[in-house]
Amino acid sequence: NADSALFKAKSSGREGYAFYEQELTDYARQRVELASSLRHALDNDELRVYYQPLHDLRDGRQVGMEALVRWQHPQRGLVAPGEFIPIAEDNGMIGAIDAWVLEQACQQMMRWNGEGNTLSFVAVNISSRLFSRGELAQKVASVLTQTGLPPEQLELEVTESAIMEDPDAAQKLLISLRALGVRLAIDDFGTGYSSLARLKRLPVDKLKLDQSFVRGLPDDAEDAAIARAVIALGKSLGLKVLAEGIEQRAQADFLRELGCNYGQGYHFGRPQPVASKSVDPDNTGDAKDSHPSTRN
Ligand code: C2E
Ligand code: MG
Ligand code: MG
Ligand code: MG
Repeated sequence: NADSALFKAKSSGREGYAFYEQELTDYARQRVELASSLRHALDNDELRVYYQPLHDLRDGRQVGMEALVRWQHPQRGLVAPGEFIPIAEDNGMIGAIDAWVLEQACQQMMRWNGEGNTLSFVAVNISSRLFSRGELAQKVASVLTQTGLPPEQLELEVTESAIMEDPDAAQKLLISLRALGVRLAIDDFGTGYSSLARLKRLPVDKLKLDQSFVRGLPDDAEDAAIARAVIALGKSLGLKVLAEGIEQRAQADFLRELGCNYGQGYHFGRPQPVASKSVDPDNTGDAKDSHPSTRN
């Protein structure tokens, strides 16, 4: 009856609340623990750079690699950047982490060049927390000099929402980076609400269509409309468009027909560490399947 249903709802609500509180406490404790062990992660050599291929949608050719950081935690195993980048942004470690990834990626790109690889560029993510600080462009310049990597072989990715946190600071930073000759891409495009007036003035080369709009393709009419609009926008502003999170051939085909230039996703290949030999025996077939894997 209604009363007992209400009673059940209330009591499970209370239990739910207690459970939620417990979870929050666990979450907060975990975060504090992670924050303190993250301080030693760089010194203890626990960070890893994984690389995910970026492909030309028209001929299928691989054009680049995106560097994606992971944390090989001694107890927890491989920790995803979504779990520790926000912590690093709060505890001030992010500058050191992004600089380390940048160095690793530029060195690795030089190695690929030396091995006769024809990749055009390596892409590196930059946190918004580094925007307001003047030293980023200097750091990029010094890494390019130290590693000898030609600037046009480095692409820096900044998220659209990071740009919109402080558009004027972002614009200044992007102009100073552009002056170094590196490529610039706006990551997670479509989720950050940038104005067209702003976008027009940013010195960028590429829009990375956020994977949330790729997920429902080719059937979802709204995702299709957004993908079509972003691709048209890129074209009219003279920017290349890359679609993130392509897991199925049908998505790659659909995006190519819309005129999207590049693609990234499990359909082409998952993020992976660089194999010590030039051929990774573990890699066969993995690029084409779409089921979730712990290797990401
Ligand atoms: P992002 O730059 O947008 O990178 C793409 C993310 O999508 C990666 O997650 C990648 O593994 C995942 N992904 C790629 N293809 C697929 C697919 O087909 N399906 C699905 N479901 N996911 C796919 P990851 O490596 O966990 O990185 C998450 C985010 O963490 C990155 O998003 C980036 O914003 C940030 N990040 C990663 N490395 C760094 C870094 O070195 N510095 C900074 N500041 N941020 C980083
Ligand atoms: Mg990225
Ligand atoms: Mg993205
Ligand atoms: Mg993202």
